[in-house]
Amino acid sequence: MNQGKPRRIRQGRNLPEVRADNLSVVLEALQKLQPISRSGLAEATGLTAATITHMVDELSAYDLLVETPSSERQIGRRPTLLTLNPERGQVIGVELSRSRIQVIRSNFGGQTLARLDRPFQPTASVEQGLTQLAGVISDIVDQDRPLLGIGVGVPGPVNSAEGVVLGPPNFGGWRNVALTAWLRERFGVPCWLDDDAKAAAFGERWYGAGRHEDTLLYISLRSGVGAGLIVGDRVYRGAHELAGEIGHTTIHVDGPLCECGNRGCLETLVSVPAILQEARRLGLTVGSPAELHTLAHAGDPVARSIQERVHTYLSAALVNAVNHYDPALIVLGGVLVRSWPDLTATLAEKVKGRSFGYLSKDIRIVQSVLGEDATALGAVAIAIDHILGDPHQALSASRAVLGGGAAQPFTPPLTAAPSTK
Ligand SMILES: [Zn+2]
Repeated sequence: MNQGKPRRIRQGRNLPEVRADNLSVVLEALQKLQPISRSGLAEATGLTAATITHMVDELSAYDLLVETPSSERQIGRRPTLLTLNPERGQVIGVELSRSRIQVIRSNFGGQTLARLDRPFQPTASVEQGLTQLAGVISDIVDQDRPLLGIGVGVPGPVNSAEGVVLGPPNFGGWRNVALTAWLRERFGVPCWLDDDAKAAAFGERWYGAGRHEDTLLYISLRSGVGAGLIVGDRVYRGAHELAGEIGHTTIHVDGPLCECGNRGCLETLVSVPAILQEARRLGLTVGSPAELHTLAHAGDPVARSIQERVHTYLSAALVNAVNHYDPALIVLGGVLVRSWPDLTATLAEKVKGRSFGYLSKDIRIVQSVLGEDATALGAVAIAIDHILGDPHQALSASRAVLGGGAAQPFTPPLTAAPSTK
């Protein structure tokens, strides 16, 4: 008697889906290997030369490719090299956090063209927050280029498939907000959403410290402690999109009560507010982790002991994470990492030799390369990844301008009703 979920039946694919799949395979290979010739693409993807020719024609019709003559001299025809057309359109990446809205506008190649940073307080009404968010996006969009899509990173938990913000702690009335549907209605382009730490992990994989590793764990240390796990190039989500919630792993079984209901979660011990609260309790007047670091560096014994305890808790959490996930690389990001310049090296040293067997020998623990931009750039990468994954759907829904014609004027509807169910 099996009342659980039946074992999954693999689904066959019909011809149009096979074509769409192949198109996406070619696009992804291009993105990773560009510039590349047609024969190089055939070799890399395992598709026949005839199929590649067909796919390249199709992508050219979407104005997605640039062809340049190769400098290599060969007998017969000189091969042309293909690259993705970075000027195909603009992509927007957003980080919506408890203190700010950060928006990055990039070209289709992921190159940052503009950046806006505005203070944000989620305590105001959801409608007000959405309007403010749309305002910042409108301010940064280049009205003369096609807008291809918008990616957003928000505090978890989220339902990334539906694009819903489920109800982050300390985030005002934001409960079950269908954010991507609202943005899609407002801007008329496809939108995608992910948890901020998972977005940052994806950003580091594409553009940052993880460009050469396909199994990495990104941990953000700031007002909360979040994480994103990349396995085989994809974000690993688990059954409820909660995989990698390292902030809520138990580090101290009798520790302080956490808002998740548990005791002694890592977040209650090493989040920035927890560290500052501990400093105040011990009589230090510091307003930021950077100030605490300055005191510790000047030899203040209390500040030093606070830092040492944070090192102990964090290294224990990292050892647990190494034993759980066996990542090739751990990337540490967030304001705590930027404020304590020796944190990453100290943790790397402490973790060495403390994980099971040989696991810790090769583990690399490094600081985020993208810094404050990690989530917004990750949101750009998420948007581009979705477009590459299904160019037909994404580009027909976007403000596509084919054949190099003039862009349509950008006029988002002013009276889109926010969906806050
Ligand atoms: Zn917790």
